[in-house]
Amino acid sequence: MNEIKKPRKPLAFYYLIVLGVLFVLNFLLVPYMTQRRIQQVDYGTFMTMTEEKSIGQVEVQENQILFTDRDGKQIYKTGKMEDLGLVERLHASGAEFTGEIVEEMSPFMSILLSWVLPMVLFIMLGQFLAKKLMDKAGGGQNSMMFGMGKSNAKVYVKSSEGIRFSDVAGEDEAKENLAEIVDYLHNPGKYKEIGASMPKGILLVGPPGTGKTMLAKAVAGEANVPFFSMSGSEFVEMFVGMGASKVRDLFKQAKEKAPCIVFIDEIDAIGKKRDGQISGNDEREQTLNQLLTEMDGFEGNTGVIILAATNRPDSLDPALTRPGRFDRRVPVELPDLKGREEILRVHAKKIKIADNVDFNKIARMASGASGAELANIVNEAALRAVRDGRNYATQSDMEESIEVVIAGYQKKNAILTTKEKMIVAYHEIGHALVAAKQTNSAPVQKITIIPRTSGALGYTMQVEEGNHYLMSKEEIENKIATLTGGRAAEEVIFGTITTGASNDIEQATRLARAMITRYGMSRDFDMVALETVNNQYLGGDSSLACSAQTQTQVDQQVVATVKKQHEKAMQILLENRGKLDELAQFLYERETITGEEFMDILNN
Ligand code: ADP
Repeated sequence: MNEIKKPRKPLAFYYLIVLGVLFVLNFLLVPYMTQRRIQQVDYGTFMTMTEEKSIGQVEVQENQILFTDRDGKQIYKTGKMEDLGLVERLHASGAEFTGEIVEEMSPFMSILLSWVLPMVLFIMLGQFLAKKLMDKAGGGQNSMMFGMGKSNAKVYVKSSEGIRFSDVAGEDEAKENLAEIVDYLHNPGKYKEIGASMPKGILLVGPPGTGKTMLAKAVAGEANVPFFSMSGSEFVEMFVGMGASKVRDLFKQAKEKAPCIVFIDEIDAIGKKRDGQISGNDEREQTLNQLLTEMDGFEGNTGVIILAATNRPDSLDPALTRPGRFDRRVPVELPDLKGREEILRVHAKKIKIADNVDFNKIARMASGASGAELANIVNEAALRAVRDGRNYATQSDMEESIEVVIAGYQKKNAILTTKEKMIVAYHEIGHALVAAKQTNSAPVQKITIIPRTSGALGYTMQVEEGNHYLMSKEEIENKIATLTGGRAAEEVIFGTITTGASNDIEQATRLARAMITRYGMSRDFDMVALETVNNQYLGGDSSLACSAQTQTQVDQQVVATVKKQHEKAMQILLENRGKLDELAQFLYERETITGEEFMDILNN
């Protein structure tokens, strides 16, 4: 896409022009125009002209002599010489001595040039500047103050390198949904004939980095229509009324350019629920009201389609999401295994990469990654290849870059004591062993005890074999057991515990709590929701919705659930004590071991 921008020059530029014009007028033009042309001649010519009595006026200055011919039309200039009888000779030749040869100009012209002309120029420049500023401010009634009421939407038009649907990997449902819009923009007649009207607004919702912006651009690219892009936060100004004016301007522009697409990113910045508090945000609410009015104001078939993106759909004002405004909601979810593989392939096309890279494996390793993270992983791999002096990226670059994106870079100079390193080795093997011994746990991909910049001293990477849409109660329990496996190993081997398990504890607690409060997996509470999730796409923080008494019970059950799994993990490790020692020793020596090496030792 090419962004079309009017070249906008800073105000200083215009000031400079004014200064330049004044300079030229004052110092060059006026003196030039007020002077008759002066011709330089040698002293000989002067003497000859004196003898021939062809000098009209003469002015003897300190170091030069100015003189005119008999008609006074031409002025001559010559240097001054030691010439004793000069004055007499001049007098004899009939020349008229004067002191103002240059100042010969009609008073009218002089006033015109030194007063009227600069003023006229000034007024013209002033008009020009005012027009520029008005243009910037949106013109007409819309301009409130200079430059403030205008939408400043970026306008894109399609170009040969515009984003197409094929650039957006995965997200097939979303693409299918949007393809209809493209079709409508291409031949609206088909839809009008049957009386169908297109949705006015389409809301793209999903977690950050899943390609919402990209999809909107792809719609414009495919439909080959102008694309106005603006972020919700750009509407909100310091002064009440500015945002509303910007909305008006945006829609005015869009209607002029129809058919076209208007894209409002992060619409939650203006579309938040109006909460009726006295100290509400007036500016935001006015902007929202204006948006609502504008969306009502045009018919469904004018060819203006509004796309908006947000990752907080639950916070939007109901008036905005009702049918007739944003009546279609297109979820853009985190990619599944197939989607991740496709995204990796799309981005891998942009870099030089070995032919034998197993994208499926990488996609399985990067479970839960968004499109933006996958793009980042591919780029990290390319950077790593350059760092190693190769001109293409390999499988190991990709694998390492996943770890970089998940856990940060390897720490170069973190020095663990032998004891600490041993503890970390046992801790990680504890996780892996508990995971492997529970049949339902995903197999281990890789275990490493190289410290990372994220603070992790080591980690066990598990790989999902396929897509999981459901998790059974047993699977969650096993996961909790796996999380407690690290600490359990420390207890079994060293009889003491360390701070290394804080992250495991957090995750285990969250899972156990969700089992009880959200998934209805506890017998006592049956299918009662005790918690509501607030920000589904942004981390999913939840708030309790139950009495204090129930909370106490929930806490007790969470503790009991984790405790049970912790004991199970201890049990597994005690039963496999020999393998635990063997594997930990192996990991201690190698620092990084693969899933296969792990399974080999376990099964021998
Ligand atoms: P969002 O608007 O959902 O936060 P973007 O559309 O801005 O996300 O995506 C950010 C970047 O992530 C894109 O520029 C692109 O490189 C990459 N990306 C995200 N999703 C996809 C996808 N489905 N296919 C290809 N690239 C993607």
